[in-house]
Amino acid sequence: LFLSCIGARENPYSNFPSIIPTTSDLESICSSLKTLNLDGHFSSDNVHHAARDFGNRYHSLPCVILQPESVSDIAITIKHIFNMGPSSILTVAARGHGHSLQGQSQAHGGVVINMQSLQEREMWVHAGELPFLDVSGGELFINILHETLKHGLAPKSWTDYLHLTVGGTLSNAGISGQAFRHGPQISNVYQLEVVTGKGEVMNCSEKQNADLFYSVLGGLGQFGIITRARIALEPAPKMVKWIRVLYSNFLIFSKDQEYLISAETTFDYIEGFVIINKTGLLNNWRSSFNPQDPVQASRFNSDGKTLYCLEMAKNFNPDENDIRNQEVESLLSQLSYIPSTLFLTEVSYLDFLDRVHVSEIKLRLKGLWEVPHPWLNLLIPRTRIHEFAEQVFGNILRDSSNGPILIYPLNKSKWDNRTSAVTPEEDIFYLVAFLSSAMPASTGTDGLEHILNQNKRILDFCETTRLGVKQYLPHYTNQEEWRTHFGPRWEIFVLRKSAYDPFAILAPGQKIFQKAI
Ligand code: FAD
Repeated sequence: LFLSCIGARENPYSNFPSIIPTTSDLESICSSLKTLNLDGHFSSDNVHHAARDFGNRYHSLPCVILQPESVSDIAITIKHIFNMGPSSILTVAARGHGHSLQGQSQAHGGVVINMQSLQEREMWVHAGELPFLDVSGGELFINILHETLKHGLAPKSWTDYLHLTVGGTLSNAGISGQAFRHGPQISNVYQLEVVTGKGEVMNCSEKQNADLFYSVLGGLGQFGIITRARIALEPAPKMVKWIRVLYSNFLIFSKDQEYLISAETTFDYIEGFVIINKTGLLNNWRSSFNPQDPVQASRFNSDGKTLYCLEMAKNFNPDENDIRNQEVESLLSQLSYIPSTLFLTEVSYLDFLDRVHVSEIKLRLKGLWEVPHPWLNLLIPRTRIHEFAEQVFGNILRDSSNGPILIYPLNKSKWDNRTSAVTPEEDIFYLVAFLSSAMPASTGTDGLEHILNQNKRILDFCETTRLGVKQYLPHYTNQEEWRTHFGPRWEIFVLRKSAYDPFAILAPGQKIFQKAI
């Protein structure tokens, strides 16, 4: 009924009066917030920090930062803004660790909530038959890992980098090399506590307020602020066998990847990446991995080639070493990689999961972490991935890349289509992530303009050939593009927005529903 009222193609938010707020309007509304009776407080000291993110390209200054010390601080603040009515100009963005790419955790002239200051309740590990963790939405995954390992447990599904918050990744999906088996992080949550855009605190799960639960998972922060999550755990292994092999033929590489993600006995983690024209590649690997055949490996030349690296990991405890070695050998014997490129190592589970942090430290030392990051993340249907690879790796990016390019397949059956996340309509789709860094002030091939141009060529190719691609961590600048992104799911997305955030207060930096300005 509601859909027919708004008309399937109408956006209810576009009917809001378009008010251009002046700075003094915003300042007076913001100062009214400071009269609220909270456990935490508002501050204006750190507004410049809240106007930055990992992408380092978009900078919107908020008027004030909420440092919440309780869930009720968040609820009181949002309710106060909601009570101002639909024509109020104030918006609210939850900021987890601010590792967004295009200002998604920013609120121009609005309120940014520093979710990491929400430490009302401790992490609580429940070690029963179905172990789980209750944790604040502002907690970092690296802290979760340290805490759960004390109990011999760990979450099942990860991201490659752990200095991200629970609320930040659950608002997208949370994908890494375990997702083919366990699904993304949004498939591994039992329950959430959410503050909606009306300022109501609600618990939700598959059984209770299920529509809110699925709206918020992958919901880009549009329907509520995740203040608490109950996350599925499993027994944590002590160690990991971490393996890399190379291919020069994309068809053979992707065939092996797809075989591994579908096999019954397989690795615990499967990813892959593309390497374009890297000198001394295998020599670099030697600092962390051991070649199985050192003589042949030293003869392998990566110069001028486009290569595909299959990266795998097998979890193990020291008392199972022999059986895991046999499993690894048997799996490797099914694959068709270049034999001289087999590299292996064994590391602790903690070091494996926190591996990207090692690169972060190195890049920070060189001043290369806080540069612009024009990243592009795509989900590509399996039946079109060869066409994509041929054009993108064989033509658009023929000479070099400006950062890692990840590529690995995922099983759609592990994604719950009741959530807000959208994926291609095929049983298997690939994540392809162009994780570029741009050198400040460069006008060359490592400069921002060149990389953005390449991203555009890739997107244009996907569009003209109708590859059926979906962006992951999507970024669009107008509602028509968002409508296309969601496809048939757009109507339900709009319906959910009107139910849980009818005045479009939340997550304005996603630029999906703009109420004013
Ligand atoms: P923020 O940037 O702070 O917020 C992101 C969005 O979520 C914003 O719209 C914000 O308003 C909203 N939000 C934040 N907290 C909450 C909350 N509690 N409730 C509701 N909404 C909220 N992603 C993967 O899936 N896999 C990876 O392997 C991966 N690796 C990454 C590596 C690096 C180095 C970086 C920078 C990013 C990576 N990402 C990866 C992307 C990352 O998961 C997202 O950018 C994520 O949103 C960042 O989390 P955050 O805590 O910094 O969120």
